[in-house]
Amino acid sequence: MQHLDASQFITDQHFSADVVIIGSGAGGGIAAEQLSAAGFKVLLLEEGAYYTREQFKMEERWAYPNLYQEGAARKTKDQAIGILQGRTVGGSTTVNWTTSIRTPQQTLDYWQDQFGLNFVAENDLTAYFQLAEERLNIKQWSVAPNANNAKLQYGCEQLGWQYTVIKRNVTHCANLGYCGMGCPIDAKQSMLVSTIPAALKKGATLISRLSVRKLQWQDNQILRLEAVPVDEHFQPTASLKVTISAKHYIVAAGAIGSPALLLRSKVPNPSGRLGKHTYLHPTVISGAVFAEDINGHAGAPQSIYSDQFVWPTDSKQPGYKLEVPPIHPVLMASKLIGVGDQHAQLMKSFNQLQVTIALIRDGFHPESQGGQVVLDQDQQPVLDYPITDYIWQGMRQALLSMAELQFAAGAKQILPIHHDAKLYQNWPEAKAAIEQLSMTALRQTVVSAHVMGGCNMSATADKGVVNANGRHHQLTNLSVFDGSILPTSLGANPQLTIYALVWKNCQQLIKELSHELQPV
Ligand SMILES: Cc1cc2nc3c(=O)[nH]c(=O)nc-3n(C[C@H](O)[C@H](O)[C@H](O)COP(=O)(O)OP(=O)(O)OC[C@H]3O[C@@H](n4cnc5c(N)ncnc54)[C@H](O)[C@@H]3O)c2cc1C
Repeated sequence: MQHLDASQFITDQHFSADVVIIGSGAGGGIAAEQLSAAGFKVLLLEEGAYYTREQFKMEERWAYPNLYQEGAARKTKDQAIGILQGRTVGGSTTVNWTTSIRTPQQTLDYWQDQFGLNFVAENDLTAYFQLAEERLNIKQWSVAPNANNAKLQYGCEQLGWQYTVIKRNVTHCANLGYCGMGCPIDAKQSMLVSTIPAALKKGATLISRLSVRKLQWQDNQILRLEAVPVDEHFQPTASLKVTISAKHYIVAAGAIGSPALLLRSKVPNPSGRLGKHTYLHPTVISGAVFAEDINGHAGAPQSIYSDQFVWPTDSKQPGYKLEVPPIHPVLMASKLIGVGDQHAQLMKSFNQLQVTIALIRDGFHPESQGGQVVLDQDQQPVLDYPITDYIWQGMRQALLSMAELQFAAGAKQILPIHHDAKLYQNWPEAKAAIEQLSMTALRQTVVSAHVMGGCNMSATADKGVVNANGRHHQLTNLSVFDGSILPTSLGANPQLTIYALVWKNCQQLIKELSHELQPV
C-alpha cells in the first residue's frame, strides 16, 4: 500500500500516472477502485488528511475542524445557508449519515426530458445500484429506530403519511450515532474503508494533504496539473510545487471543489453552465420538546424518511423530503435560535429535543435554478445561492408540515428554527405563527449537507459541461466523476446516485481508455 502525506514533502515533486483522480469522496473512491482493478496506474489526490478510526473519538470539537470543509462552518456568499461537506480521505462519505437511496425515477425522467439523458439499455442504472449496494453492504436497517426517528415514523402513522425504513451502508454497526464524526469501528462502508484500501492494494497511490490548484491545458487536452501541499491547518505551503502528468484526468473534488478547479483552470465553457446550477436540497429545521428523553445523539442518525411531500401535484410548490438529523450539542447549539438565557433554556431541554428536517427538492422549476460557484480574490470557491420566493414558499409549507407532524407524534412544544419564532404549545398556535413568519435570508435558518451540480451532464454540449458518461464535452482526456455532474438535485440523499453513476461511467471509461492508451 502506498500513501504519501504531501505535508511531509520538503522539495518540489513530479509524479506521473495513467489516471489521476482529484478528490477521494464518493466519486473519487469508486473511480479509484474500478480503474486500479482494471490495471491502470492510478494516483488518488486528496486535500484533506488521511485519518482512520484510531483518530475518530466521537468528539465534535475534533471532527469539525479536521474532517470538514472550512471547519464545518462553510456558508453561502450571503451567509444565509450553512453547508456541511467533508474534507478528508473518503470525502463526505467519511462523515455522512449512511442513508442510501436510489435515484427517484421522476428525477431520471426529468433529466431525460430536459438534458437528453437516457438511462436505459446499457445506460440503465439498475445494475450499478445493485453493484454499489453489494459492494457497500447497503441494506434496510433492521434495528428499531432511535427515538428521534421513531417520532418521525409515529407522526407519519398518526397522520396517514407515507414513510420508509432507510437502507444504510454499514457492516456490524453498533448503533452508536456518531457517523458524522467518522465511524470509530469502521462499520460505515465509506470510501475510506472500502474502495480506497482496495485501490491501494491494487497498486494505486494516495497522496493526502495535496490541494490541486490548476489543470494546464492546450488545444483539447489537459497537459498536467499543479498542486500544493497543505499544512496541519490545511493552509497551502506556498514555497512547494507538485506537478502531475497523466493520460487521463478525473476531477472528483465535490460539487463546490470541482467547478472551482475547472474555473481556476479556465477550461472551455461554451454552454456557460460551469459553476452554475449548483443545488443544495436547502433544508429547514423544526425542533420539538417531548416529555420523555429522545437522546437524538444515540443510535443510527437516520433510519426513517417520509416522501409524503416530495412530488406534489401542484407544480407551484417545491417538493420536500422529511428526515431527521443526528442531535449533537455543537451542531444543535449552532443552529438553535436565540442568545443568552433563551438559548441556555433550550439547551437544557437537549435530551428531550426531537428534530425534524425538510430537504427542498431544488432545480426542477424556472424559479429554482440553484446557485453559482464563483472564485474569490484568493481563487477560493464561494457559492452564491439566492433563495427565490418559490423556495421560501416551499420552506414555509415544510415548516408547517413538520410542526403538524411533531404535534401528532406527541410533542409538548415545537420550535421552528427561525429567528422570529418561539416555542409554540399546540398545532393551531404554531400554524398561525408560521404563516406569519418573514421568510428571508438570515431570519430563516437554512442548512445543507447535499451539494450537487455545477458541472452538469447533458447529451449535447450546449446544455452542460460533461456528457452522459461524465467526459468533458471539450477536453478529451478529462472526466468529472462526482456529485457536481447532477443536472438537478435528486429529491433523495445523493451518495447512492453518485456511486452508481460513477461506477457506470468508469466501466465506459475503461473501455474507451483501453483503446486510447495502453495500461502500464
Ligand atoms: C454531514 C453529512 C452527512 C451526509 N449524509 C448523507 C447520507 O446519509 N446519505 C447520502 O446519500 N448523502 C449524505 N451526504 C452527502 C454525500 O456524502 C455526498 O453527496 C457525497 O459524498 C458527495 O460525493 P462527491 O464525490 O461529490 O464529493 P465528496 O464526497 O465531498 O468528496 C470530494 C473530496 O474532494 C476533496 N477536494 C476538494 N477540492 C480538492 C482539491 N482542489 N484538491 C484535492 N482534493 C480536493 C475534498 O476534500 C473531498 O474529500 C452527507 C454529507 C455530509 C457532509
